Amino acid sequence: MKLTNTLGRRLVDFAPLEPGHVRLYTCGPTVYNVVHIGNLRTFVFEDVLRRRFRARGDRVTQVMNLTDVDDKTIRGAQEAGLSLGEFTAKYADAFFRDIGRLNVEPAEHYPKATDHVPEMIEVIRKLEGRGHTYGSEGSVYFRISTFPGYGKLSGIDLEKTRRGDRVADDEYEKEDVKDFALWKAAKPGEPSWPSPWGQGRPGWHIECSAMSMKYLGEHFDIHTGAVDNIFPHHENEIAQSEGATGHPFVEVWLHAEHLIVDGEKMSKSKGNFYTLDDVLERRDDPAAVRYLFLSVPYRKKLNFTWEALGAAAAAVARIRSAAVRIDELASAATPPRPGSFPSEERAALFRSEFASGMDDDLNTPEALAAVFNYLRQVNAAVDDGSLDSDGARVARGALADADRVLGVLPGAPEVLSSEIEEKIAARNAARQRRDFAGADRIRDELGARGIVLEDTPGGTRWKKASGV
Ligand code: AMP
Ligand code: ZN
Repeated sequence: MKLTNTLGRRLVDFAPLEPGHVRLYTCGPTVYNVVHIGNLRTFVFEDVLRRRFRARGDRVTQVMNLTDVDDKTIRGAQEAGLSLGEFTAKYADAFFRDIGRLNVEPAEHYPKATDHVPEMIEVIRKLEGRGHTYGSEGSVYFRISTFPGYGKLSGIDLEKTRRGDRVADDEYEKEDVKDFALWKAAKPGEPSWPSPWGQGRPGWHIECSAMSMKYLGEHFDIHTGAVDNIFPHHENEIAQSEGATGHPFVEVWLHAEHLIVDGEKMSKSKGNFYTLDDVLERRDDPAAVRYLFLSVPYRKKLNFTWEALGAAAAAVARIRSAAVRIDELASAATPPRPGSFPSEERAALFRSEFASGMDDDLNTPEALAAVFNYLRQVNAAVDDGSLDSDGARVARGALADADRVLGVLPGAPEVLSSEIEEKIAARNAARQRRDFAGADRIRDELGARGIVLEDTPGGTRWKKASGV
């Protein structure tokens, strides 16, 4: 599998360090607000990556952190008048709901920063022992001039560094090389933890070094994020991890390009800032959103427009209707005369085209083109009667395998079931109040999402509408 390694900026032939087991760290959300569709594009890219490894037969251990303590979460909790834990739990829930709706497979671990402060202190102590740090007024900084490899990921210009120039901010200007905080002295009214340097809290970067090494080991395969993570976040992670262990940290760094809207950066002030809820309000089709993300290679900017989303929805509908036709034929009894469509051969060709698209640096549009090319042939064979039900079962298997990576079929992922149960309960309550209009509204809302309700003497049951 070929992948573009940001470290060294080259295409590499990927093989996991431990044969058959891919260890993957994916920077997760800062849980201070609802994630936007740009964040979600990156999470879907990482999901397709893990699904592709699994389809190839590898075991995957994926870790995604939740940043639940930093400048933004602390400020947000104070403004909301909530404890940090209460405040971040709300956004962590919203995050899991969003990735569930986009049919993202769960990672093996979702560690929270606040549960790993001792591990972070341990890494800082190792750095201290190896002479990479200095303290000032209860804070601890990483002295980048002690790490000769600093800049190897981002290609940042080290000449711009001034001795002793340091920054307490976790996110600083691109091109601005500074000694960064590993540990920040406590400020009044802010959450803090005890440490060898007094009460305080960890910097942002140290969390990913500590948690990735805890769950994946000191040297692992792949670390991902979007391009904004390259500097300073990932550059600092390399300095911290390799500074602490004295050996290489990550083999391959992958970075997704950003999602933009109508050609511009998403921003609240421009009114082009969308959450998944905003998008689904206008077009209630999460599979179309997922498809749109896959229609552009991860290393290219993705320009979100309503028109592009409409085209993605039409493409998903075409895959779905082909899947339904194949399914109907596959479930029928085999006719006496076998069909002439060379189903095994065509399916094998499709599988190999799909795989080579995916393994070409995760070229998802190429893999999707293979899907449509194949479905066109199968559809034509259904039309002219040359596909028999044995052949349809072969086609059904090939399409299902491709969708194990794509994740665009079926439209309504199982993870929605608790939400559906809640809606059913609300509808039952409405019916008991004789609020039949309210009850019908809920039924229609679920219907629009492809969920059909059936009222039986034993209670209300739900199922997915056929073809969804
Ligand atoms: P954050 O919560 O800001 O740490 O972001 C979570 C993930 O989303 C990180 O990997 C970011 O690099 C990524 N990200 C942020 N903005 C965008 C964007 N506009 N498009 C794609 N990914 C993004
Ligand atoms: Zn990170």
